[in-house]
Amino acid sequence: MNFSYSQKVDIVFGRDQLEQLGQICKEKNLKNGLLVCDALFVQNGMAERVMAHSKGALANIFSGLSPNPDVEEVDSCVQKVQNMRAEFILALGGGSAMDCAKAAAVIAKTDNPTRYFHSECGAVQTPGLPVIAVPTTAGTGSEVTNVAVLSDRAKGIKGPMASDLMYVRLALIDPVLTLSVPPAVTASTGLDVLSHALEGYWSKNHQPICDALAIYAAKLVFDNLYATYEDGANLDAREQMCIASLIAGLSFNHPKTAASHACSFPLTNLYHMPHGEACAFTLDKLIAINCETNAERINTLARMVGFTDADQMAARTLELKQKMGMKCSLAQAGIRTEDLEELSKQCQHPNMRNNPTEMSMERTIALFRSLEY
Ligand code: NAD
Repeated sequence: MNFSYSQKVDIVFGRDQLEQLGQICKEKNLKNGLLVCDALFVQNGMAERVMAHSKGALANIFSGLSPNPDVEEVDSCVQKVQNMRAEFILALGGGSAMDCAKAAAVIAKTDNPTRYFHSECGAVQTPGLPVIAVPTTAGTGSEVTNVAVLSDRAKGIKGPMASDLMYVRLALIDPVLTLSVPPAVTASTGLDVLSHALEGYWSKNHQPICDALAIYAAKLVFDNLYATYEDGANLDAREQMCIASLIAGLSFNHPKTAASHACSFPLTNLYHMPHGEACAFTLDKLIAINCETNAERINTLARMVGFTDADQMAARTLELKQKMGMKCSLAQAGIRTEDLEELSKQCQHPNMRNNPTEMSMERTIALFRSLEY
């Protein structure tokens, strides 16, 4: 067996670690920085608090981004970086803010628009500005991956832009920041963590180090996600979910995700499903589908995270979705039978080819039909 593994991001984890920001910037000689965050944090005063914690290292704020950020929003962020000659970026938020910042950090060093690196597949060739990522959801793991997932609404597409030059310099993970996440976002982002762990594990590119990380992260999700949904103030469970998110990010960064993520892109684009909910929409069915070709490995994972077998793990995944009010059927998602062909066509993303059981168009349509109730 041949494999390689590397991890390029410094990680600081712990309650109230945000207070260390000024010291961290000083040690790393980071100044004249741009804070990239979603507008919510400007409205609720969080952005001001982060500016204060930076002890003068942050000089400006960009908050013009939306969930599943658009390439044109990244262009605006790049413009701000260039105008102020920022020396670093601090991303505060969920995957949307982190991905906008990661993309802007490299694009700001070029003369090209974001679209060139996204749908036109231009390669990132120059290192970008250093980024500190401060996640505020337990979900994407973007703080340790080399990907930024962006939308191009004018072209009707959503997909990743990836480069090993896009790793952040430091991930500062403070579970206290996730206490304010509302229940529906807690549910969706937590299921994103589960999708990362399961897909990192059963990816065609799976490897032992990432398998170990995936098993660890999946168990944390099954043990803690519902507790954070039921009681958002449960800091112990929130902390465990932040660890799960981080480790699941590491588990899929090398193997990459597979069919549930491939299906999630059009589910978000066409049916406006939040990212994690969109990934989870097909996840329990994919446990069964992938058992057709990988029964032994997936049953082993299921036992290691506390189930008797993969069937029981799939049933619990569906139960979690139902108990947390996630959309589970085509009808709940507003998907009409006559639209399944177009939806399945748009799912044929490269991640689909990373799924262990082959997902042809016909198989993808059948997967969606199995959600017809
Ligand atoms: P998000 O960043 O879009 O945030 C979702 C909502 O939660 C927003 O309305 C935001 O304002 C709110 N929110 C965030 N933190 C909060 C807090 N602490 N308190 C209250 N509200 C808060 O959601 P996400 O799921 O974290 O990120 C999704 C994006 O990340 C998608 O575009 C997805 O494709 C991408 N993604 C990226 C990677 C990667 O490796 N780069 C991996 C998975 C997903």
